[in-house]
Amino acid sequence: MRIRNILLACALVIAVGAGVSAQRGGRGGAPSAPGQPTPPGPQRVEDLKKEAAADVESMKVMTQQMIDQVFSFAELGFQEFETSKYLTAVLEKNGFKIERGYAGIPTAWVATWGSGKPVIALGSDIDDIPQASQKPGVGYKDPIIEGAPGHGEGHNSGVPLNITAALAVKKIMEREKLPGTIKLWPGVAEELVGAKMYFIRAGMFRDVDVNLFAHVGSNLGVSWGGGFGTGLVSVEYMFKGESAHAAAQPWRGKSALDAVELMDVGWNFRREHLRLQQRSHSVIVNGGDQPNVVPPNASVWYYFRETDYPHIKEMREIGDTMAKAAAMMTDTTVTSRILGAAWPQHMNKTVAETMYANILSVGLPKWDEADVTLAKGIQRELKQPQIGLATQLGQLRGGLDPEQNMGGPSDDIGDVSWNVPTVTLGYPANIPNLPGHNWANAIAMATPIAHKGVTAGAKVQAMTLIDMLMRPELVTAAWDYFRSVQTKDQKYIPFITDKDQPALWLNQKIVAQYTNEMKKYYFDPTKYKTYLEQLGIKYPTVR
Ligand SMILES: [Zn+2]
Repeated sequence: MRIRNILLACALVIAVGAGVSAQRGGRGGAPSAPGQPTPPGPQRVEDLKKEAAADVESMKVMTQQMIDQVFSFAELGFQEFETSKYLTAVLEKNGFKIERGYAGIPTAWVATWGSGKPVIALGSDIDDIPQASQKPGVGYKDPIIEGAPGHGEGHNSGVPLNITAALAVKKIMEREKLPGTIKLWPGVAEELVGAKMYFIRAGMFRDVDVNLFAHVGSNLGVSWGGGFGTGLVSVEYMFKGESAHAAAQPWRGKSALDAVELMDVGWNFRREHLRLQQRSHSVIVNGGDQPNVVPPNASVWYYFRETDYPHIKEMREIGDTMAKAAAMMTDTTVTSRILGAAWPQHMNKTVAETMYANILSVGLPKWDEADVTLAKGIQRELKQPQIGLATQLGQLRGGLDPEQNMGGPSDDIGDVSWNVPTVTLGYPANIPNLPGHNWANAIAMATPIAHKGVTAGAKVQAMTLIDMLMRPELVTAAWDYFRSVQTKDQKYIPFITDKDQPALWLNQKIVAQYTNEMKKYYFDPTKYKTYLEQLGIKYPTVR
């Protein structure tokens, strides 16, 4: 395998301050007025929200255990078997009905509780990052297992957040006999943008009124609108040639690897004449077996990113043309398959404004000296400004001008956002100024920083869930924005066809290589209070 470029899949965007209209125009829609926090609801609703937040606080040991447990499983996209087994067991024990193997994806599931309308979905990602193994609480590179995957994005924390929020609200719904359904779902293989479009195709969101997503960040925040980040299509091009003795009779060979390299060279020249907003990157997943055999097979995997649907589609068409041209140059043949895709995100204004009011009421966690020492330790290590942890909430941002969007990462929550009113809650479980998709982003993720950040986020999520369950006018307003603003000129067109299937084989080889060794480090909450304790790590350890 020859790796030419680092694959940046995910999207840790949520930038507090985000905003795109996936409309090629967004042009049609000028940026609208900035949002305002939704005013408080009736006293009864506000009282129940306070109660839910207090209940979340009382569950913090359970929340911590879930975060540490999933951190220790550290599973890559489509291979989240232990993670999903564990999380669904927690939900099942708490009365949720589980549908496993959702959309033909073995690690996907849907957990539902309650009955009738409204149906509020809570989602968050669960997969991790290759080669990001790292001891939590240690402020420099120190892997648990060298080369193994690790939660270098913090996806171990979001479903624990949603479970905590859901359990707090469920108790209230039972006692108050509130109608409504809570539906939890996992972002499987988010780093490969591999699953959410299949969830949509299988109908996961057909009956959902509002979808509350959660993604780890370094502050508590939410935004609405589009105008930030990109969407993408992930395509593998597979070339087929003919092998031959590379020295004795090279003229009889047709090198599939030559085709891959020519495609890459072509793309890198073309790059100069693409819009500035695009991001494109590739890895060679198969570059042949050994030098004395002309490679009969070779393949290259591309991410084509742009800020709106038509441009993403255009990028893929250019890629297809270039692959065909490379095949012609080398007398090989080429086929392609889609491995993942993500629409540019567009978040709902009403739901964001409602969530933001709850963010203002919850506020940031109180960090202690040990938390700040760890944060400054890794910031120092990476030669970043030593700002410690977030101490001030950001603004509610939205309605950004798509013309000003200069690109960035992607997240397949974008697809969901074009099917049902959606927002992403960013919660402060990580340290600011880290590189992303890196071992450093795993440091905080099984420490008090993550535990406190998730508890704060779970309070906001629970309160917003109660707002959506008890204030039907908010759900109506959310759909009004969705129908008459967001999707007025741009409808969702999936990148996948009916024939495409989830790329379930991805990451299987890496898992086979590391799982036995990793099992020795699974968190055992019957013996240890925390994962830090189990690993014998003094918190914080910094240089
Ligand atoms: Zn992510």
